[in-house]
Amino acid sequence: MPANTTFRRTKIIFTLGPSSESEEMLEKLISAGADVVRLNMAHATLDWTRMIIKRIRKVSAKVGRDVAIMMDIKGPEIRTGDLAVPIELKPGEIFDFTVRPGAPRENSEEIRSVDVNYKDLLNDIAVGDTVLVDSGLIRLEVLDKKDAHIRCRVLVPGELKSRRHINLPGVKVNLPAFTDKDRIDSAVGIEAGIDFLALSFVREAADITHLREFLAKNNSHARIIAKIEDQSAITNLDEIVRACDALMVARGDLGIECPFEDLPVIQRRAVNTCIAEGKPVIIATHMLESMISQPVPTRAEITDVANAVYELSDCVMLSGETTVGKYPLECVQMLDKIARRIEQEESPDSRTISVFTSEKMKVLNSAVVLADGLPNSKIVTFTKQGFVAGGLAALRPVHSPILAFTPFPETYRQLRLLRAVEPFLMPFASDPEVTIENALALLRRLGHANIGEKLVIASDIVVEDRFVDSVQLRTVR
Ligand code: PGA
Ligand code: MN
Repeated sequence: MPANTTFRRTKIIFTLGPSSESEEMLEKLISAGADVVRLNMAHATLDWTRMIIKRIRKVSAKVGRDVAIMMDIKGPEIRTGDLAVPIELKPGEIFDFTVRPGAPRENSEEIRSVDVNYKDLLNDIAVGDTVLVDSGLIRLEVLDKKDAHIRCRVLVPGELKSRRHINLPGVKVNLPAFTDKDRIDSAVGIEAGIDFLALSFVREAADITHLREFLAKNNSHARIIAKIEDQSAITNLDEIVRACDALMVARGDLGIECPFEDLPVIQRRAVNTCIAEGKPVIIATHMLESMISQPVPTRAEITDVANAVYELSDCVMLSGETTVGKYPLECVQMLDKIARRIEQEESPDSRTISVFTSEKMKVLNSAVVLADGLPNSKIVTFTKQGFVAGGLAALRPVHSPILAFTPFPETYRQLRLLRAVEPFLMPFASDPEVTIENALALLRRLGHANIGEKLVIASDIVVEDRFVDSVQLRTVR
């Protein structure tokens, strides 16, 4: 098979579900160029999780493309209770949310109600606040709170089914960032060797610090992805970006918790903040939503994906499109096609300049400037924990792919998240020069280094027994 030497810079994440979990479909999606597989723990059992991680590793090995696995834990989430039959909420109807199942109340005959899984809701919520149910489809206004009941009026009607997600825009919910369920899910994920842990509804940097302690205690090398989904996350965006390893702009909940017209503004700010801080950023939710039921996207969806690529995001993500959609493979192919096309349009002006100040980063910056000035160049680098590759990726080289060598399988998979980084797994020699020679030989063998191409090599070299950061320019011969 001839090597595909044109790399896609934007990475593709897809969420596993009934439409994509078979070995057959997984093989197709990974072969089509998916980089990261996401497990949404809001819908997963522990047995399924263990089984599916093994399956992903097995299929990856078969395809010869080792993808990274992201476990997405659901974090603090408020839900309505079970209902024997759905309730059709009418416009203007008075309706109760009850925080203590079976609590006595007045007017019980006339007023219908549903339980809520969160006892402190009564304290957190105020008269006049908005309650949104089922991804914002049903809207109510709080009129009164008494005993265990929150009395509301229905503003936007709809059918209320069992166990629906509740959003409370602007309300600071007093739930732990890392719940008991999250702890159990994470332990299973760590044991099975996940590469990323995505924390839902991150509100402040401390949420991430606590998770980091938990990971350290459990000897996990998993990297933390902070999902920003509500107003506190936007208020604390800068500290969250600094604390996390990567950020996900979770537009589904964000578009409910914030005024939806703010969404594009928040997205752009989040991407620019991440690039400036050297953290990878993922754009998620509704990217190709109409492809859940149709084989082609809307023109607006094509433009939305293109926008994420123009903004220089690291990754675009699929959710419902690949969990329950009819066209999972077509969705991955569509993202691949749009990203490759838009990446040809990049120019140095589209770049947000990183604010790195360390000497190491200045050396890496000079490598990127050199590569940008050389058409037909590739950057080659060597990275143990992935930091050097992350630094180079954050500098957003205009056209050169970053060919990153690492001796560690976890790092190799984690590098899949980074924009323009193409990972290679290879043991390092004690002499950096030997490592470079081995890398170049491997690239030639794989067809990734062709005669006449310029290689900008950012690596250590040994000078008088000391390691020195270096940038070298070599021509493939
Ligand atoms: P979810 O997060 O799929 O876990 O809800 C993504 C989002 O809210 O956009
Ligand atoms: Mn969400």
